[in-house]
Amino acid sequence: MSDIALLPEVRAFLQQGHDCFINGEYGRASGPAHPVVNPATGETFAEVREADPAQTDAAVNAAHHAFHGTWRDMAPLQRGAILNRLADLIDQHGEELAQLETLCSGKTIQLSRAFEVGQSSHFLRYYAGWAGKINGETLTPSLPSMQGERYTAFTLREPVGVVAGIVPWNFSLMIAIWKIASALICGCTVVIKPSEFTPFTLLRLAGLAKEAGLPDGVLNVVCGTGACGQALIEHEKISKVSFTGSMNTGRKVGAQAMQANLTRATLELGGKNAAGFLADIDTQKAVAGVMEAAYLHQGQVCAAAERFYVHRSRLDEIVDGVAAQLKQLKIGSPLDESTDFGPLSNRPHFEKVSQYFASAPDQGCEIVHGGRALDRPGFFIEPTLAVADRRDATLLQEEVFGPVACFLPFDDEEELLTLMNDSPYGLTASLWTNDLSRALRLVPRIEAGTVWVNMHTFIDPAVPFGGIKGSGIGREFGSAFIEDYTELKSVTVRY
Ligand code: NDP
Repeated sequence: MSDIALLPEVRAFLQQGHDCFINGEYGRASGPAHPVVNPATGETFAEVREADPAQTDAAVNAAHHAFHGTWRDMAPLQRGAILNRLADLIDQHGEELAQLETLCSGKTIQLSRAFEVGQSSHFLRYYAGWAGKINGETLTPSLPSMQGERYTAFTLREPVGVVAGIVPWNFSLMIAIWKIASALICGCTVVIKPSEFTPFTLLRLAGLAKEAGLPDGVLNVVCGTGACGQALIEHEKISKVSFTGSMNTGRKVGAQAMQANLTRATLELGGKNAAGFLADIDTQKAVAGVMEAAYLHQGQVCAAAERFYVHRSRLDEIVDGVAAQLKQLKIGSPLDESTDFGPLSNRPHFEKVSQYFASAPDQGCEIVHGGRALDRPGFFIEPTLAVADRRDATLLQEEVFGPVACFLPFDDEEELLTLMNDSPYGLTASLWTNDLSRALRLVPRIEAGTVWVNMHTFIDPAVPFGGIKGSGIGREFGSAFIEDYTELKSVTVRY
C-alpha cells in the first residue's frame, strides 16, 4: 500500500496560513513563528504564529461580549441545534480533518478518522442532547416560621462565563471537543489553545463552527506555547480554566488560575495506568487486552496502560503472546491506510521516549521486544515490551506516554493491589479475569478515577472521566461536567 493523496481542501487550508480565529474571523498572529513538523518525515510543512498578548486579549474580549450579548441567553434547544449541525459538518468534512490531524500528529489515518472525527461528532451529539436538561431544583427551606410567613426556594444553574481551554497534542480535536461542547451547551463561551505541534485541526473546526451557525465570538482559537496559555489563564475575564496535559504543567496551571482570580480549574492530567491480569484469564484475551491497552496511537493516550501486573503462573505465555503480536504490526507512514503503527508525535517527545528505552536496562528492566528508534526519517520508535525485575523500575514508575508495556509478576491479590496503587497518578486501571465477583470486590480498592473490567482505554460520553491523586481534579462527561461549567445560584422567596 502507499500513502493516500491529500485532499485539495487540506492543501488549500494550509496555504491560507491561519494562526488564530477571533470573533468569527481567521487571522494572522504577530508573535513568534513555530514550525509545524510532519512527524512521519521530520520535515516542516507549515508554521503557526503565536498570538501576542493583544490578540489573546481580543479573543477573550470577543468571548466575553458574545457571552453577555447572545450565547448565555439563547434558548438551550437552539444551542443544541447548533452543536448537532457542527457534528454533521465534522462528519461531512471528516476526511479533511483526519488528514490535517495525521499530518500534524502522526496518528494513523484510520485512527484519525475513527477518533478525531468519529468520536468528536459522537461527543458533540451527546452534549447537544443535554440542551434543556441542565436545571436547578426546588427546595423546601427547613427553619420554622417566626410570624406565619412562609418560604420557598429554588436553585438556578447559570453558565460560569468565558472558559479558557488548553489542550495537548495527542488528540487535538477530540479533547478540544470535550471542552467546547460541555462549555457551549451550558451557555459558556470559549477561547481555546491547541498545542503548537498540532494547531490545524482545531483551527479548521472553528471555521466549521461558524458555518454551523455559532455566533461570532462564541468560539475563539489562539495558538502558541505555554506563555500564550498563561496569558489566557491569567486574563481577568476568564471564569474557568479547563486544562488537559501533563501533571507538571497542570500544577502550574492550577496555581496560575488560583493566583489570578481564584479562577476555577479542571485539570485532566497524566497517568501511569496499571492493568492487572488474574490467574484465570484466557491467554488470547490477555494478549489482545495488552495490545488494546498499551499501543493505541503509539501509546500516546492518557488512559493507556504502561504497567502490567500478571499472575506469576501466566507471565511467560502472555509476554510471549504480546511479543508475537508486536512482530506482526506494520510500522510505517500514518497516511498509508494499512499502517498499524506510526511515528511519535514530535521530536522532543521522541527524544524523551528514546531516552527512557535506552536507560531501561540500567533501571531494572529487560527489553524483550523493540526499544530502538527506526533508521528512517521521522520520529519512529519500535513498539516496546519490557519485563521488570523490581517494582521501582523506572518504566513502572514514570509516565513514558509512549509505546511500552512493562510487566511484573505478582503472587496474590493483596500484592496486586499494592502494586497497582503504587503510583502518584490515579487516572485509569483495568482488571482482567473471568471471575466477576472477584473483580467487583477488588474494584473499590483500586486508586483510579476509572476502572475497567476485561477492557481498557474505552471512553464513553455518558460515563464520567477524570483522575484522582496526581491525575487531576474534576470530571468530564456524563452529568459531571455540569458542576464544572455552571454556578449554582440559590433563590429564596418569602410569602
Ligand atoms: P503539556 O502539559 O506539556 O502541555 C499541555 C498544554 O499546555 C499544551 O497546549 C501546552 O502548550 C500548554 N502549556 C504548557 N505550559 C503551560 C503553562 N505554563 N501555562 C499554560 N499552558 C501551558 O502536555 P503535552 O502536550 O505534552 O501532553 C501530554 C500529557 O497530557 C501527558 O502527560 C498525558 O498523560 C496528558 N493527557 C491527559 C489526558 C486526560 O484526559 N487526563 C488526555 C490526554 C493527555 P505547548 O504544547 O505549546 O507547550
